Amino acid sequence: MKTIDRLALAGGQPAVSNKLTVPPWPQTGPDDERAVVEALRAGDLTSLSSGGSVERLEVAWAHWLGCAHCVAVSNGTAALKLALAALDIGDGDEVIVPALSFIASALAPLHVGARPVFIDIDPITFNLDVGSIEEKITHRTKAIMAVHLHGLTADMAAILHIAKCYNLRIIEDAAQAHGASYQGRNAGTIGDIGVFSLNASKNLPTCGEGGLITTNDPALAERLGMLRQFGERLRRGERRLYEHVDYGWNDKLSAVQAAYTLSRLPRFGAEIARRAENVSAFLGRLKGLPGLIVPGAPVGYEHAWHILRFRVDAAAAGLDSISSSSLRMAVVRALRAEGVPVGPYQTLPLPAQPLFAASKRDQMSRSGRDMATTPFEATQFPVCCAAIENSFTIQRSHLSPDAAPLMTAYADAFEKVFWHHREQISKIAATMSFTPPWQSGILQ
Ligand SMILES: *Cc1c(COP(=O)(O)O)cnc(C)c1O
Repeated sequence: MKTIDRLALAGGQPAVSNKLTVPPWPQTGPDDERAVVEALRAGDLTSLSSGGSVERLEVAWAHWLGCAHCVAVSNGTAALKLALAALDIGDGDEVIVPALSFIASALAPLHVGARPVFIDIDPITFNLDVGSIEEKITHRTKAIMAVHLHGLTADMAAILHIAKCYNLRIIEDAAQAHGASYQGRNAGTIGDIGVFSLNASKNLPTCGEGGLITTNDPALAERLGMLRQFGERLRRGERRLYEHVDYGWNDKLSAVQAAYTLSRLPRFGAEIARRAENVSAFLGRLKGLPGLIVPGAPVGYEHAWHILRFRVDAAAAGLDSISSSSLRMAVVRALRAEGVPVGPYQTLPLPAQPLFAASKRDQMSRSGRDMATTPFEATQFPVCCAAIENSFTIQRSHLSPDAAPLMTAYADAFEKVFWHHREQISKIAATMSFTPPWQSGILQ
């Protein structure tokens, strides 16, 4: 095997041949193109057209998930905001949010005038640490934002229990977890409201932006329908009365976007199965490589594998003199040189984002809202900080069902870096040091 002779970093041949291209995601098939053109030709352009693609997507997604209602909206961030608003969460309220997530999980509470209260994450699942929730609950706490990060659901039994004890609502941020499940229940059907993104990068994409909100509560579904539509009461099949009964937004989904996703839905289950096969073959080869901790799903969880996050553990590799973050830097460089597009997903805990820095807090209070969060302290979020320092991710390139050959080559690259050339990698790591942005003072 000549490709393992030398690291690509040291002038060797990359493990991932440049003849292997990353299959596109999302891949648009002829049926999807036809569906979009048909929507255009039928004049199915707004979400109002009765029996149009927006309504059909709502029915189809609710059916696919096994829940009672689905309301389609303009994107996942708007979906989170509408979910909070429909649950009457607003000025002065607090929402528990995990420190590791996409920014939208923290922006949505701000959009309705509520304050995100951050908690640390679990080191194995990277989801919110359910043991830290109760200490953050105050008389203002109204909801838990249960983010299913990377495609793995949060610990829903514990979250349901806490929510019941303290009378809190649960919003599932399932933007990365279409098709994931927890003890046989689909992500997005377990809490009060589930939220999905149809952004082109997600597991169930549209050809642009979109979002889906799910609930089993008919009153919430009706309210969500009004909130996305100028707070307007619309009666199906009846004349429009322009009657605005609620404080709403314009967050409707375009019919063309709905037609595209609807066209993909029949093959969604097969895509999930193929992706799970590809990922488990890939991870199976990486298990046991010294110093590498591969992602997994605890018993009872079905992972949607939206993002693959790998942890690096220098001590487990027998490299006591170097830090895991130095080793992570060295392996990321080496893997990239081998042709594996590894990188970070989130370089800061959410509470360390400049948005929450002192100056912005003042701005927010000037807007008349008391949304000040406590200043960020890394010691409050040790697990999240360690995850950012010591892990790296693969995104998007593994999502296509046709990614198997590519992932075989990725596995070759991991073996080369973590096994065949581990001594050289540890020498490179010894020359590298990582100062997290929250320590270097660049956040102020
Ligand atoms: C993508 C994402 C969102 C937001 O969805 P958009 O459609 O991009 O607005 C929210 N939460 C998480 C965890 C996400 O990954």
